[in-house]
Order: sequence, then structure tokens, then C-alpha cells
Amino acid sequence: MSLVTAENLQKDYPLGDTVVHAVRGVSFTIEPASFASFVGPSGSGKTTLLNMIGCLDRPTGGRLTLMGTDVATLNQRTAAAFRGEHIGFVFQDFNLIPVLTAYENIEYPLLMVQRWPADKRSARVRSLLEAVGMADQADKRPDQLSGGQKQRVAVARALVTNPKLVLADEPTANLDHETAYRIIGLMKQLRTEFKTTFIFSTHDPKIMAEAEVTYFMEDGRFLEGNETRRGGAHA
Ligand code: ADP
Ligand code: MG
Repeated sequence: MSLVTAENLQKDYPLGDTVVHAVRGVSFTIEPASFASFVGPSGSGKTTLLNMIGCLDRPTGGRLTLMGTDVATLNQRTAAAFRGEHIGFVFQDFNLIPVLTAYENIEYPLLMVQRWPADKRSARVRSLLEAVGMADQADKRPDQLSGGQKQRVAVARALVTNPKLVLADEPTANLDHETAYRIIGLMKQLRTEFKTTFIFSTHDPKIMAEAEVTYFMEDGRFLEGNETRRGGAHA
């Protein structure tokens, strides 16, 4: 079964007397453990598409199925529960909680979203700190970390609940090139290790080359014949 299936997916936003067609009917499937990207200029619909896949926003047309669940059957409460169980998020500006340490930021979803018992939490947080190479920075707060280190913590936080899917909206936009490569490389490695599907968006052609499956977007549509698949066991 595909992890994500979209058929003629659409999103309109009302804007005064008019309507913005942010996503104008896109169709695609994403398989488990893949490393996929949506690529396009600013305003092409990447965030809107990721927000629909993340159950943060509802489609206005077409059909979107996540792990066999048609998102149209979810209401606000069940969508939140679905997100908490199955989906992790990584953002452009890291979105860490400033007063919490790296350790506490990673622990947060286990406390607030999945309510894990205390004895299991610490082992899980430690293993994620290891996985992203931040074990020695566990007690630092975000303002004591570099951009790349912050994004490592954010990637660990996204993975801590062991979601099937991680969505990363322009995760490298605020990082220099070398750090950006390292973060994408880390996500790719974690995909293999945890069998998590990653979908990221970018407008950076160099970063895009790291994806195994790429969908090019323009004005809310996929470009013709645009799907690119690259080699590797998971492509
Ligand atoms: P990208 O992430 O590729 O920059 P977005 O998905 O943010 O693109 O936006 C796609 C289009 O939808 C843009 O024209 C944007 O202005 C519009 N848009 C996005 N969100 C809203 C909203 N909440 N209300 C109205 N228009 C929106
Ligand atoms: Mg965007």
C-alpha cells in the first residue's frame, strides 16, 4: 500500500472577492521509506501541499489518502490524533521551544502528544540525540546552538514518536550550503535506519538533487512528465 496517494488534489483559498487556486489538481503516490521532494519557486504551492499531507489544512477538491485513511473522513480532533501518531514535522525556522534544552525539546512530543511513561522516555530521547549526533549538546538551549545543530534537534524531535512520515518544509532555507547538505544527508540516513518516509520541499536546485523522487511545481500544478526518480534501493 502506498503511504500517500493524491488524486486531482486541490486547495482554494478565498481572498476578498476572488479565490486563490493554491493547488490546482495534482496526482501522485509516495511509497513507504521513500525520500521525496516538492520543488518549485516561492508561491508554487509547496507549503499548501505539505500542509494538506500533514492534516494541517483540508483539501477543497480531489482525494488524499494517507496510510489507507481518506483525510476527508477526519475532523479537527481525529486529524490531530492522526498527526500525533503518524506524522513528524520539520520547519524552515526550526521552531524549537527557546526555554527548553535540546533534550527537553526532543522529549516534548513524548510528553504532550503521546504521553509516554517516564522510564521509556529517557532512553528514547537519548537514542535520538545519538542518531542526530547531538548527544554532547543535550543540555544546551536553542540560543546556544548553531542553525545546523538546531535543525538536528528538530529532526530528532520529528522522529522521536517513530512516525511513518516526516514532512519538512524548506528545512534548509536558513542554513548555509554545506550545513544544508549535511541535514539532508542526515535525513536520508535516518530514512534508511528508521524506515521513515521523508517528504521535503525546497527551491534550491542543489539540495533537490539529493531527493530520490522529485515533483516539480509551478502555479499550483506539477510540471508535465516531471517526476524524477533516482537510483538506490528505495527509489
Ligand atoms: P510555496 O510554499 O511554494 O511558496 P504556498 O503554498 O505558500 O507556496 O502558496 C501558494 C499560493 O497560495 C500563493 O499564491 C499564496 O499566496 C497562496 N496562499 C497560501 N496560503 C494562503 C492563505 N492562507 N490564504 C490565501 N492565499 C494563500
Ligand atoms: Mg512555502
